[in-house]
Amino acid sequence: MKDQEITVTLTQTKKEKLPADQLVFGKTFTDHMFIMDYSTENGWYDPRIVPYQKISLDPSTMIFHYGQSVFEGLKAYYSQDGKIQLFRPEKNFERMNRSNDRLCIPPVDEEFVLKALKELIVVDQDWIPTAEGTSLYIRPFIISTEPYLGVSPSEHYKFMIIMSPVGSYYKEGINPVKIHVENEYVRAAAGGTGKAKTGGNYAASLRAQANAEEKGYSQVLWLDAKEKKYIEEVGSMNIFFKIDGEVHTPVLNESILEGVTRNSTIQLLKHWGINVVERKISVEEIYEAHAAGKLEEAFGTGTAAVISPVGELFWNDHQIVINDGKTGEISKKLYDTITGIQTGKVEDPFGWVVEVGEKQETVQSK
Ligand SMILES: *Cc1c(COP(=O)(O)O)cnc(C)c1O
Repeated sequence: MKDQEITVTLTQTKKEKLPADQLVFGKTFTDHMFIMDYSTENGWYDPRIVPYQKISLDPSTMIFHYGQSVFEGLKAYYSQDGKIQLFRPEKNFERMNRSNDRLCIPPVDEEFVLKALKELIVVDQDWIPTAEGTSLYIRPFIISTEPYLGVSPSEHYKFMIIMSPVGSYYKEGINPVKIHVENEYVRAAAGGTGKAKTGGNYAASLRAQANAEEKGYSQVLWLDAKEKKYIEEVGSMNIFFKIDGEVHTPVLNESILEGVTRNSTIQLLKHWGINVVERKISVEEIYEAHAAGKLEEAFGTGTAAVISPVGELFWNDHQIVINDGKTGEISKKLYDTITGIQTGKVEDPFGWVVEVGEKQETVQSK
């Protein structure tokens, strides 16, 4: 794989770009995409950058029936001095291979797909928005493509990378959200696929999410499948609680997705001398900490929002308001530091930033 050449076919018709304030997450895509195929005979083959286009699949293709797929999500940013930066992208491809293993999808060469991603970004670099808080969202994914209704691992796959410019997640500043603790449905159970980034987990989450929205909450807090007692994640983010000066987060298990932002948050907090405790956390004790006046902050972490403060929890008819419904000090500091490192405004003491290249003169944005 390593020495395979990536062929590039440039588009003849460049798309019109939207101004930064009109960007909608995941609805507009750049001019090009990366694609490669897999077959049991050839392994991964024919890596290519091509104009963004539709793909054609037989109705019997396995992905439509049995959902064998994985995906990743990361972002590219313009630094203040015009460099294109990625944030810990190797983590995403490592995780993709862990997801692949769980879904019986063949592994990808992590170095090669990172190289392919960098080449794609360079081709579409004038699509990276430059306004404060904006970025280019990157979606690598794999689907099974064998036309066959049998239930078994597919013998054919497609790996693709598509990219979408995104506006600022917080247009009116960071806003704490209201969260509904989910007592009925579960996202994932031990032994299931919760640890893998696969579409099926999202399909399983939609009913609870829709119910929560109907009641006026923006996300669901997921509990463990067995006892419905221990906190796992919030929406599609990992969750943290600041209690009495320490930060607590659910210890990773079979049904929690290990976020890159979670990992970065833990490292940063430790770097600042704050004690971080990874353990099983029950909702009950969060309510008790609140009653004792010790629950100082709660926040979710994920690539899209980076840090999403929790202003309110609702569980079993009991509502609690955290930090007066305002963004806490640590939440704010984490948000500023992580986004600062991503955009080169804040020094990167951990070597997290990976440079893609300098902005080329010829494609200076208009
Ligand atoms: C992607 C995802 C996260 C966050 O992961 P990041 O790498 O921080 O973006 C958390 N939980 C779930 C269920 C996810 O799918």
